[in-house]
This record gives sequence, C-alpha cells and structure tokens, in this order.
Amino acid sequence: MKISHIVSVLLIVLLFQIPLQAQKTIVEKYGQLSVKGKYIIGQYGDTVQLRGMSYFWSQWQGAYYNAGVVKWLKDDWKCTVIRAAMGVDHGGYADQPYDQLERVKLVVKAAIDAGIYVVIDYHSHQAHMDPYTAKKFFSEMAKKYGSYPNVLYEIYNEPLQETSWSDDIKPYADTVIKAIREYDPDNIVIVGTRQWSQLVHEASLDKISDPNTAYTLHFYAATHKDWLREEAQKALDNGICIFVTEYGTCEASGNGVLDYEETKKWWDFMDQNKISYCNWSISDKEETASILIFGASWTGKWKESKLTPSGLFVREDMIKKNTPIFGTLKTE
Ligand code: MG
Repeated sequence: MKISHIVSVLLIVLLFQIPLQAQKTIVEKYGQLSVKGKYIIGQYGDTVQLRGMSYFWSQWQGAYYNAGVVKWLKDDWKCTVIRAAMGVDHGGYADQPYDQLERVKLVVKAAIDAGIYVVIDYHSHQAHMDPYTAKKFFSEMAKKYGSYPNVLYEIYNEPLQETSWSDDIKPYADTVIKAIREYDPDNIVIVGTRQWSQLVHEASLDKISDPNTAYTLHFYAATHKDWLREEAQKALDNGICIFVTEYGTCEASGNGVLDYEETKKWWDFMDQNKISYCNWSISDKEETASILIFGASWTGKWKESKLTPSGLFVREDMIKKNTPIFGTLKTE
C-alpha cells in the first residue's frame, strides 16, 4: 500500500471517529453509577452531576410519558436524566397498576434508547403505610431493568412531616431495598426524607446501610431558602449523598412567584457540591412550575413560544451546563 493510501485511510478513520465521539451518550460516558461518600461516581472514576427534568404525577399528566418527549428533552433540552413520577395514590398505581406501569415502562425504555439516566420515582406521601405494594413494584422494576446502568430507583417521593425517619421511613427503605437487591445488586436507590424530603440532616445521623443509597432533598425556591441549604450542608458534612430529584422555581404549592434569584442560588449550591437535580415539571397544568403552556404538544418538539417563563429559564440553564458533555450546541 502506498503511503498516500495509508494517509487517506487514516483520514477517513479520523473523519468518522470525530462525529462518533461527539455523539457519545451520557450513559456511555459514565456507565454504571455508584455512591461514594457525598458524590455519585461513574464507572470510570468521574464525579457525576446529572441535570434534567421530572415528569408530573403519571395519573394526571400521563400523555407526556412517551418516547417523543424523552428524545426531545435529550436532544433539545440536553437533559442527562429524567424522572418518571409514578403516582401511587389518588387513582395511581395502587388503583390502576397496569396503566401506570405502562407509562413508566414507555419512559424507561425511551431513556435507555436515548442513552440517558432515568429515575423511577414512587410518587407517594404515605408509601411506608403499604410496603407490600412498593416491594411488588420495585421487584418488578429491578428484575426488568436491574442490568441497565441507566436506572435509579426513588422509593418514596415525599414522606410527610409527622412520620419518623428512624421508625417509619428507614424500616420501609430497608424492606424495599432488600426486594430490589434480590434482582439488582448495584443500581443507586434514592430514599425520601421527612417533611416532604427536606430533613436530610436527620437522615444523615441514622444512615441506610446499603452503600449505593442517596437521599432526596426537594426545594421550591420561592419558599425554601437559606435554612434548607444549611440543612443540606450539614447532611453533606456528615458524608451522605444528596439527589434533588425534584425542585421548583416557584412556591411550594407549585404556583405563585417565579423566584429567579433564589433558583440561581440553589443552582450554584448544587453545582458547587455536584448535586444532581431534576426540575418539576413536564406539565401543561396552568401553574408556575409547569414548563409548558396549556395545550402544548404531547410528543415534544416544543417551540420556545410553547414554553412558560419557568420552562425557558430552566432550559437555558440546562443547555448552558449540559452541552459540553455532548459537544456542539444544537440550535433551533
Ligand atoms: Mg444493576
């Protein structure tokens, strides 16, 4: 072979390599995740911070639970994680397991196909009252998805204020984690904390024994400010890993003022501590937290005119921070 031919072949190899590298997915980049102290670590040793979107309760905004939306959130919004918020009570999984399961499965499969991470969230305020149903659900999920590095299990969205961490939430978590570990030895489990997933410091004083466990912190920027960041800092100082599986740019009701300044403070805090976060929510309900205006397409491809002020604000942050992971910025 002539030297010029060798050079040509090398050039062709290089030309094909570069776009392939740029298209590497987040899951190809980080692989199997695990918890190490206060951080999430990738399979190749990276410290991982995921940013993405949370769905709304599956029984009320289930139309958005589909592959088109997941693909759009990855391609256009640059989400590296999404959260399927499967409603359990109020006409959710406890009453209609088949319908809710199908929605979750559509989203999980779409996330696996898209090469992003997905949190399977048991969206309940009283899950510890019925561990049997939760065990049944998570056994099925672990059996089906335990071999995929994409999946994280969030076993209790928001325990209420009047529960006890050590006597209610932790025993429930131990039971459900045991059911998961029968099929999946390693994917991360995220456990809700008392008072709508705020009291992470309390949890850090009585930790879950499973090493791949993270703890949920939720905030709504116009309501929860310095005191909750201080609570989070104390928990981090005790060495637990926090995952903000849900946050709002507005008041705790999901409505009211859109607090830009306080949201930025939270973003800074989470970025400094490499805390992963998902915004609440993929919804066209007419309230401040929704990213979509009422009637926006159920299958994605939303123009900016279909996004709410919160949607525009959150998308801008995500594109700015997540784009370097994927290479060049795609503009619409
Ligand atoms: Mg696994």
